[in-house]
This record gives sequence, structure tokens and C-alpha cells, in this order.
Amino acid sequence: MSRLLPSLLALAVLLTFAPASTESRMRVLVIDGQNNHKWDITTPVLKHALESSGAFSVEVSTTPAKGADAAAWEAWNPKFTDYAVVVSNYNGELWPEKVRTALDAYVLAGGGFVAVHAANNSFPEWQEYNRMIGVGGWGGRDENSGPWLYVKDGRLFRDVSPGKGGAHGPQHEFVVEVVNEDHPVTRGLPKRWLHTRDELYSRLRGPAENVEILAAARSDLTAELEPSLMVIQHGKGRVFHTTLGHADYSMLCRGFYLTLQRGAEWAATGDVKLTAAVPADFPTEDKTSPVALEGHPKQLPPEPKK
Ligand code: ZN
Repeated sequence: MSRLLPSLLALAVLLTFAPASTESRMRVLVIDGQNNHKWDITTPVLKHALESSGAFSVEVSTTPAKGADAAAWEAWNPKFTDYAVVVSNYNGELWPEKVRTALDAYVLAGGGFVAVHAANNSFPEWQEYNRMIGVGGWGGRDENSGPWLYVKDGRLFRDVSPGKGGAHGPQHEFVVEVVNEDHPVTRGLPKRWLHTRDELYSRLRGPAENVEILAAARSDLTAELEPSLMVIQHGKGRVFHTTLGHADYSMLCRGFYLTLQRGAEWAATGDVKLTAAVPADFPTEDKTSPVALEGHPKQLPPEPKK
């Protein structure tokens, strides 16, 4: 006992004076592995966006590659309940039933979920997932998937006219407008800010239950204010859905960073406290605010040829 005491004391001192450990941070699981986008390039940006806030510690679970056999899928079994929030950077093959059931159960019981950009293209056939994300695009979505959601006269509007779900024009910078400034995710943000080069998703369709649009952007294609940031209540769980984030350069902007951090915190806890501070370099209506990250271009790549 007398020999154990000094080491116990040392441990007590260490625990008292150690800086906030990663243990106290909200645990995030990012899922990637298949996407019609460069998920291997964007996942490190999502990880940086979250961890640079100091509020999160991020792990990544990568699914088997497209066309993998059943044994590979059998071995992929993320334990969602170990995490405060699950972030999807995935758009690909349907997950095995047991993983789908586990995610449904996790969110319904109060887990947090975040869908980033093409994650809303995923799983047109998985009904519970579509209720979770509210609306999605492509993958054969149409009026049978649910209404087209946009903002009309300042309010959420469900357009039931027939048509395909999911569209976007060429990538460009566009202004994101806050539609609900009273939500923890958008509180204190400028009413309008310039988002860096990205695809402006439009004509998203889905069950659109318990969904709220927090911010939206005017589409050249539809002339409507199409949702950029949404929140969805799903059972006891909370879902944050950002349609932004086509490429690393679309994410490497202070506006994307802060809204992802706040959305993830809100999905995890129902409030925004740790990521509430609006940085002085948050974009304005006329000026984006690039974030530098090693291994990613400092400048936007040349405009794609039209
Ligand atoms: Zn895209």
C-alpha cells in the first residue's frame, strides 16, 4: 500500500491539472467509403472542420468498396451508440439490413445525425432514411418520394407538383440567406453570407416531415429559395442536413465550418454552446472566408469549362 500511494497521488495530480482531454469532447463518427464525390478528399476536411472547434473528436468508419462481397459487408458494423453524432459523407450501395436497423434505432432513441451534400442522394429506397433527412435528390426520386421543398414568402413550402427530385446548375459562389434566425444553429449569423464555390442543390423531394429550413439559397434553375441548411426531428433524435459541400474547396470556408460545427453540436445535444461564437472572419454578403488546410488547394481551382 505504501508503495502504491505515491503513484496514486501522481495520478490524482495528473487528472487535476491535465488539459481538457479528448475524452470530454463529443464523439463523432463520420461514415464514408462510397460516393460519386471524392469522399477520401472531403472526409479529412469534415474531420478538420469539426475538430478545429475543440468540441469534437472524430473517428471515421469506411464502408466496403462498391461491389464488395457479403463477407466484407458482414464485417462492417459501426456501433452508432458509442457516438454523440453520426455524420454521413456516404452516397452508395444500400447498407445491410442490420446496419440500417441500427441507425434507425439510434436516431429514433435520441442519437444525432448529420447529412452532408450527396449523403442526401443516398438510399432512395430506404424509407426511414428519407424521413430522417427530410428530402433528397436523384436516384429516381420524383413526386412519389414526396413534395419539393423550398421557401416561399419567407415560409417553408411543400410543392406537390410532379417532377424529378434533385437538380443543380454549374458550380458557383452564392449567397446563403438565413430563414430562421432564432434557431441555435443560425443564431447570431449574418442574415446573408457569401458561400464559396459549390453546387446549389434544388428540387429536393422527400417525406419532409418535422423539417425546418434554417437557411436557403436562390437557385438560378428554379428561381426559388432552395434549402441549404435544414433540421429534422426524427423520433427523439435530431438531424442536421446541409446541402452544401460538393468538394474540399466548397467546404474550406468559414461559413461551412461554423454551420457544420453548430449543426453537429445541435444534433448531439439539442443546443449550441461550445460552437456558438461567430468568428470575426465569418463571410459577409460580398466576401467568402477561405479556410487553409494543408494538402488542399489554397486557391479555388480554375472554373470548369462550360
Ligand atoms: Zn456535388
